[in-house]
Amino acid sequence: MTVEHIAVENLALESVREGGRFERGSGRTSSAGVRSARVFGAVACVALAAGLFGCRTTSSPEHSTASDDEMRDERVVDSNRESGLSEARDAGPPTVWREVVGSSVEGRPIEVVVIEGEPDAETVWILATIHGDEWAGTPLLAAYVDAVTAAPNLTGGHRVVLTPVANPDGYAAHRRTNVRGVDLNRNFPADNFVDRRGHGEAPLSEPESRALKAVFDRFQPHRVVSLHQPLRCIDYDGPAEAIARGMAEVCALPVRKLGGRDGSLGSWVGIKNGVPIVTVEFARGDERFSADQLYAMYGEMLHRAVVPRIE
Ligand SMILES: [Zn+2]
Repeated sequence: MTVEHIAVENLALESVREGGRFERGSGRTSSAGVRSARVFGAVACVALAAGLFGCRTTSSPEHSTASDDEMRDERVVDSNRESGLSEARDAGPPTVWREVVGSSVEGRPIEVVVIEGEPDAETVWILATIHGDEWAGTPLLAAYVDAVTAAPNLTGGHRVVLTPVANPDGYAAHRRTNVRGVDLNRNFPADNFVDRRGHGEAPLSEPESRALKAVFDRFQPHRVVSLHQPLRCIDYDGPAEAIARGMAEVCALPVRKLGGRDGSLGSWVGIKNGVPIVTVEFARGDERFSADQLYAMYGEMLHRAVVPRIE
């Protein structure tokens, strides 16, 4: 076994151990919680399989591993059994696939979970935990995947790209920044990037921000939602005011314009690229709620982001 193989395997095992961390703070006992654990546990399994089968780091439909297909099949079968459907692909759950799209400074995988939509549908990108100590969005996205798998109409046929943990090293260490002390949400190539301590020596100096930019470039989302804490409001950049107001109608968070931060994802996506982006700031302590509770509080808000009702 080569050194490279060992390194990748270690990374994968680390990821498996951390699979349980997606459920951190949830304390859930419901079946939905078990399903969430399986979804994000499966992400870790893909990484493990990728390590064991020749250092492949992707498992997209074009480059799927056997284990990925098996997991997808298992999921479809389970959902059909629950719904009483047999071969009703049209009425069945959406295709959900996962892929490692980059890695952190410490080598943890950065992953996307893609819920496929109708051909020519719009794409919505939702990312959580770019600040590692603001992780309430991560279990919320697990519950979101469960919900749209059980009720596919919730996506309105749109494709939804999820990044459950945008800053995995910060998440593991309970810190805002990556391990090099860089605030990833100040490290994007926006016009207002400031070369300052903690912002990175240059835009995209960090592997995590490069991976996130690659997700944006590849999936070309029509709108983006970034989940943060603890300012308890809904902020937006770019042409996203109507989307933000629609989201605020169905949750307890008010719209509040915070202003584009230096080199932030909002400044880069919304102002520089002109793509609507909503920054959701959950309340302090929201991470103590279970995924199901978070979904009860904010699930409808996510659906409004995916399927805006704009007059
Ligand atoms: Zn934040």
